[in-house]
Amino acid sequence: MAAAAIITTVSARGCLEFLPPLSTPAVFGSFVAAMIGSILPDIDQPTSMVGKTLPIISRLMRGAFGHRGFCHSLLFLALIYGITMTLFSSMKFYALVLCLGAGSHLLFDMFNRPGIPLLWPLKIQFRLAKIKTESQFGTKRSC
Ligand SMILES: [Zn+2]
Repeated sequence: MAAAAIITTVSARGCLEFLPPLSTPAVFGSFVAAMIGSILPDIDQPTSMVGKTLPIISRLMRGAFGHRGFCHSLLFLALIYGITMTLFSSMKFYALVLCLGAGSHLLFDMFNRPGIPLLWPLKIQFRLAKIKTESQFGTKRSC
């Protein structure tokens, strides 16, 4: 989400030549796309926000791949990119921002102790640090 917010802000100010300056509704739309993208990889966790929103899909993903499996991989990002570019071909910028949001989720999950299987189905865990996180309710969190 941080990366998407930076790109949106820079584009809104017209600083990038390949992106036209964004209107206020477009800035809002890109933030919404970035927020959706940033929670999307946790669809494999039924207790997550997106898991509670789409419980059937979440349980299917959890059952098929487990938490922090396929949904935390580059293959998942590529799938999301392909689906959004196909379904929303007239809104490619938002599809890209959604993928950047998902990518930022993966980046920040790499700072947690378990890491993520970036090259799934290879079982190599990628991590940048071993930070242990806890939720606001005091229970250990691994999303
Ligand atoms: Zn996650």
